[in-house]
Amino acid sequence: MSYKELKRKIDAQQVTFLDGGIGTEILRRGYTWASHQLKSEPELNLEIHQDYINAGADVITTNTFQLSKRSFRNHFANDEHLEAIGVRGLLDRAGELIHESVALADKARRSLDHSDTLIAASITTLEWCFRPDRSPDAEEIFDEYLEELTDYAEAGADIFLFETFNSTPEAEVAIKAAKEVGKPAWVAFVPYQDGRLLGGQSMEEVTEAMARNEPDVLLLNCAPPDHITAGLEQLAPLWNKPLGVYAHVGKFNPPEWQFTDDYNADQHLQECKHWHDLGATVIGGCCGTTPDYIKKVTEFFS
Ligand SMILES: [Zn+2]
Repeated sequence: MSYKELKRKIDAQQVTFLDGGIGTEILRRGYTWASHQLKSEPELNLEIHQDYINAGADVITTNTFQLSKRSFRNHFANDEHLEAIGVRGLLDRAGELIHESVALADKARRSLDHSDTLIAASITTLEWCFRPDRSPDAEEIFDEYLEELTDYAEAGADIFLFETFNSTPEAEVAIKAAKEVGKPAWVAFVPYQDGRLLGGQSMEEVTEAMARNEPDVLLLNCAPPDHITAGLEQLAPLWNKPLGVYAHVGKFNPPEWQFTDDYNADQHLQECKHWHDLGATVIGGCCGTTPDYIKKVTEFFS
């Protein structure tokens, strides 16, 4: 379907489905994040996209979390140092991988004759997503977002999914850049156990900031189900536009993920029903969830 049609469905409060974890699914299938490499193992990534489409996802997300020029730059003292010891063309790699990852998601939907599946570009904060204290000054980052988003738009992404965001100032810049590029922005924040953002902002502050910028969907993600519930209970009464959730399942075991059976696919579905009762209509899964989790959700709500 076109984005216009999807938006009509979302605005009509019909349940819309995102995919589940990709990075964690790579681990579950026996690869590490260092070994999977988009370039050397494209089939692995393609299969995961296909499995989520088959599970009923309306929107699949690119495998591009934290892919940015800044991620590469942060390994070096400065650009001169990068030039001196970095491999040639390192900074161009972000743009190249963005194009390849969108092309891979597109290949997945075409291979299944599902050209109506939409592709969301997975974009997180410029610095580490769980460190709101490191969020850069909002005035300085517009151009960085603009460059990154332009790459995604040129590659053919349908939606910018700003996910695992930890504060509103950076989200506001990201949405402004999305508007400049001319593609829809969805914004997902990480709630903490007290129902506030990881950076301490209240849901009142979130809704005030988002009302100024109007993302098409406001979501909560990358937190365990009870934190998502705490956030949603505070957010839902304050926001009368489309809301979404995608929780993670398991424990973070840096740099990778530890799978647990705290919430199996059936228990996860029970949580999704509760979130739907609270007002969430865009539903998917974050780290640790699998195509089975998504299938349970799509089968129940379809
Ligand atoms: Zn996550």
